[in-house]
Amino acid sequence: MTVHPIVIYGEPVLHRPAETVTEFDDALRTLVADMHETLDASNGVGLAAPQIGVGKRIFVYHADDDTGVRRHGVFVNPVLVSSRIPDTRPDPAEETEGCLSVPSLDFPLKRAERVTINGVDETGAPVSLSAEGWFARIMQHEYDHLQGTLYVDRLDKRWAKKWKKEQAAAGFDEPGRSWMPGVDPDPFGH
Ligand SMILES: [Zn+2]
Repeated sequence: MTVHPIVIYGEPVLHRPAETVTEFDDALRTLVADMHETLDASNGVGLAAPQIGVGKRIFVYHADDDTGVRRHGVFVNPVLVSSRIPDTRPDPAEETEGCLSVPSLDFPLKRAERVTINGVDETGAPVSLSAEGWFARIMQHEYDHLQGTLYVDRLDKRWAKKWKKEQAAAGFDEPGRSWMPGVDPDPFGH
């Protein structure tokens, strides 16, 4: 298994819809294994294939579910259905989000409280889950990646303004940037 560099905001593959997976072969299984390895090395909770430069509809997650149980999983070609996103301001203490492709920054963002997600795994077997709260947030964040949307693209006016400033300061607006999990310091200060 191989740890891959994680591309940063500005890389075109992050900003376009990913393609449906059609071949459930050894190459796909290797890719998914590499994504798990890369996510482990990055200390993140979720990773979508575009974040390692592969424009395919796949994401993996390593996160605690609603009951506090650690869950590892993969969704290939997922379809997500969510409850309505509340039309209120996000609480910076409770509703802040970050992204491995926007390292060292985080911003408050309102998300739907509940989701159901259906897809298949790397063998083509159906996988499905329903989630609430934090776990539902992770599912929405990773699913967004497959549409070419990053959480910073969804910020409300106030936080978008802050992001634009930070983005310019960090240079997260041009292609060709990446960081290497396990080599470069990760965005969480490990
Ligand atoms: Zn992300």
